[in-house]
Amino acid sequence: MVDYNLEFENIISNLFNKPKLLLHSCCAPCSSSVLEKLCNHFEITVFFYNPNIVPFDEYERRLKEQVDLLEKLKISYIIGEYDNKKYHDEMKDCENLGEGSLKCKKCYFLRMKETAILAKNLKFEYFTTTLSVSPHKNANWINEIGFELQKEYNINFLISDFKKKNGYLRSLQLSKEYGLYRQNYCGCTPVKEKNEENKNNTK
Ligand code: SF4
Repeated sequence: MVDYNLEFENIISNLFNKPKLLLHSCCAPCSSSVLEKLCNHFEITVFFYNPNIVPFDEYERRLKEQVDLLEKLKISYIIGEYDNKKYHDEMKDCENLGEGSLKCKKCYFLRMKETAILAKNLKFEYFTTTLSVSPHKNANWINEIGFELQKEYNINFLISDFKKKNGYLRSLQLSKEYGLYRQNYCGCTPVKEKNEENKNNTK
């Protein structure tokens, strides 16, 4: 089995300059420890592209939190389109599935593909995503998708498993330090409803 974090460490230890990296970010808390890990090795631009998030006011809240953090850290960013219809069209066969299902694989693919295309068009040298910092996200799928897109668009994918070496724990610490809003569900409706149901059952 591939040790994604070891591969990642090999890559960054062999970098001579700071290549341009387009980093897809799902939210400010997840980006915090990833940015800390990458900022000495890459010239980073963050791409916030998350049409999976509902409702729209929650999307806006996460976007604002992300932008505020990046402005504080003086990191450049690009905001993707909130095309929730496109997201639902792509998920139409698996709309009701929950977190960890194949729906998530399609959801990662949608967001990472948009990142790879943008990275290629804007002449970045690498692209990757913050998604693997979460223990709920499947690092095998994320890296498989990354390599598929690398081949298809001829742009380097930065292999990663950002939760490793206390990456997730560090995101919790930094979120506290920066006073970041941490959502209690990933993004889509079934997962939001399940979390609310669990909360009600424990009352
Ligand atoms: S749980 Fe998260 S990753 Fe999975 S489909 Fe829903 S929004 Fe996408």
